[in-house]
Amino acid sequence: MLYLDNSATTKVDPEVYDAMLPYLLEEFGNPSSKYYPQAVNSKNAVAEARKNVADLLGVSSKEIIFTSGSTEGNNMIIKGAADYYADKGNHIITTSTEHPSVLETCRYLETKGFEVTYLPVDQFGRVSLDDFKRSFKDSTILATVIWGNNELGSLNNIKELSDYCLEQDIFFHTDATQVIGKVDINLEDFPGISFLSCSAHKFHGPKGVGCVYIKKDQYDMLTPLTPLYHGGGQENNFRSGTLAVPGIIGIGKAAELARERMTDNIKRLEENEDYLTKILKEKFSDVIAFNNDVSNKIPGILNVQFKGINNELLLKQLAPVIAASTGSACSSSKPSHVLQAIGLSLEQIRSTIRFSLSFQIYREELDVFKEL
Ligand code: PLP
Repeated sequence: MLYLDNSATTKVDPEVYDAMLPYLLEEFGNPSSKYYPQAVNSKNAVAEARKNVADLLGVSSKEIIFTSGSTEGNNMIIKGAADYYADKGNHIITTSTEHPSVLETCRYLETKGFEVTYLPVDQFGRVSLDDFKRSFKDSTILATVIWGNNELGSLNNIKELSDYCLEQDIFFHTDATQVIGKVDINLEDFPGISFLSCSAHKFHGPKGVGCVYIKKDQYDMLTPLTPLYHGGGQENNFRSGTLAVPGIIGIGKAAELARERMTDNIKRLEENEDYLTKILKEKFSDVIAFNNDVSNKIPGILNVQFKGINNELLLKQLAPVIAASTGSACSSSKPSHVLQAIGLSLEQIRSTIRFSLSFQIYREELDVFKEL
């Protein structure tokens, strides 16, 4: 079966799996314990994993806080900043095409007295700098904008948005879940990004682990936030709880591999995408329309309408040979808010399928589409 739902989740890389195993069996110690080998070894391995994640993002180890994934990361940053800076203002800026873990967090904060601006997007799901600038108020404390959209793959211009926030002295968070390992990013070039969230299982690491980047200030202090979890003070007091060591080793290894293989992986993703696009255009020329832009997007994500065909029925028919989805796995029962935001009709949304590729796929495997 050809798995084309890599934006929902990816298969753990065998090297990641091998790296994790010892930390379930021999090296099972709590990294916060001391003196005996299991504890010291797991503590050292966590430090190495943190360094690998930090190197992938171009930041320092100190700025990486491990979480259970991007849902937690997005909640942690948005609620944490809203609470910590509530005396400075109550206005948050976001976009209408964020993942539910951002949108629902913002909606929750509205019930607590915060004001949220949900910016509109263009036909490919990108926010404009002009709209962004216009939405700032004296009461703005945080802007949160997705880096690469999980349904369309469109990339927001995070550089110009975060630079503007730096100029305005406003915190900027980005949900980078879908871009890690597929877009070469170095946060040294993004001084305006104060916070970033990501999840290991989107780049061939295990599920249930992720991290947030929390920027250091000029005094070498991490930007303060109110933590979601209070307790033993792990992760610099930002995220209490015994560290999920095997998962952390997994994200560390996945980050190391992503960094080493970035150029090749991106090339492979682009080639696979071009090849699949060509087959789809040839094979389904009379019914097909692409919802995504062809450039300035995450390689490997295709969002395609099969006009007049119900997407759920089509997916069921494809399922024995091709695994794909209608869009976000988290809200697959509702019509996509992302496709609504770019102006598609319900009929168009109900005929849309997302194919999300992987660099692990061989081009010849995509020939299965020719047989449909
Ligand atoms: N943000 C984006 C853009 C995503 O695609 C996802 C997962 O689909 C998440 C956040 C949530 O990640 P997780 O389910 O790993 O917490």
